[in-house]
Amino acid sequence: MKKSSFYQFTLPALKELFATHDLPPSGPGLLYNWHYKKRKSEPCLTDLAKRSIAFVKEHFDFSLPEMNTLQESTDKTVKFLFQLADGQKVETVLIPFNNKYTICLSSQVGCAMKCSFCHTGLQGLQRHLKTEEIIGQFLVAQQWLTANRPLDDKILNIVFMGQGEPLHNFDAVKDACDIFLSQHGLSLADQKITISTAGYLPGLMRWKDEMPQVNIALSLHSAIKEKRDELIPINKRFPLEKVMEYVDAIPEGKNRFVTYEYLLIDGFNDKDEDAHLTGKLLAGKKAYVSLIPFNPFPGSDYKRPELSKVEKFKSILDSYKIPTLIRATKGDEILAACGQLNSRTL
Ligand code: SF4
Repeated sequence: MKKSSFYQFTLPALKELFATHDLPPSGPGLLYNWHYKKRKSEPCLTDLAKRSIAFVKEHFDFSLPEMNTLQESTDKTVKFLFQLADGQKVETVLIPFNNKYTICLSSQVGCAMKCSFCHTGLQGLQRHLKTEEIIGQFLVAQQWLTANRPLDDKILNIVFMGQGEPLHNFDAVKDACDIFLSQHGLSLADQKITISTAGYLPGLMRWKDEMPQVNIALSLHSAIKEKRDELIPINKRFPLEKVMEYVDAIPEGKNRFVTYEYLLIDGFNDKDEDAHLTGKLLAGKKAYVSLIPFNPFPGSDYKRPELSKVEKFKSILDSYKIPTLIRATKGDEILAACGQLNSRTL
């Protein structure tokens, strides 16, 4: 009989499975505690009832993605290339801040959105990742940190900003987030997970009801239709006005902001006019803008603007009273920065 990955099961799904097989109800909580809280990768064979142990041995597989290569940059960013069971590869990045880490997870092998500034977009979509492959990226990266940087091995934030459009793989990403947030699982606090989307409307329409504890970062990149169409081709199918309707509806009544990511490309979307139109679009919203100077990658014609242009753009947004940060580029010497991931080129 083919075994199922243990890491695909949310706690309610695991409880249901145990109930269906008439197994003691304490099993799922004990298993979650063993594998997620105590971070054990070998099967839990001590605390469980004998019947549950036999069931676990027979039904569950505990294997994790294999680490194919690992690169560390001088700023302590770490990029993993994982090999999956079918030989496909995905990348995951640990980004350091104050001796802790944010992990940037992939949600798909390649991506169907084909954003013109993105190295992953060049690959096209190979396939969606399964829940256990998303959880696996986190667990292996955590194991590596504990073994190699034991004094600062905490992962405090998760961002789905690696390869893939997370809302295009909604069900697997949602289940992974449930496991990350579960008090018996990885126990991350609400608002510590952020999903970055190019504006995939079918997923956004589900997000408000199904993943309210997860933050959204919208890739804006231009308030001008023609420019956004070029950068994010799905803008033609899911126009920004429609996307903003859903994004605007979400923070209402909640003390939180939506992040708008704005990739600045030299001579393309970094002019004063671009900044003013962005300011007018976001003024008065619960918006926070993350300005990202373009990170070059092999084969791209776009260029990174001078810092002075980035600062001018920020000062114009400041005049609209929109909180704006210039995102520090980390890991670009190992092609681990935003938009640079592409598992084919390694
Ligand atoms: S930027 Fe994101 S959504 Fe666009 S192609 Fe790259 S991975 Fe896909």
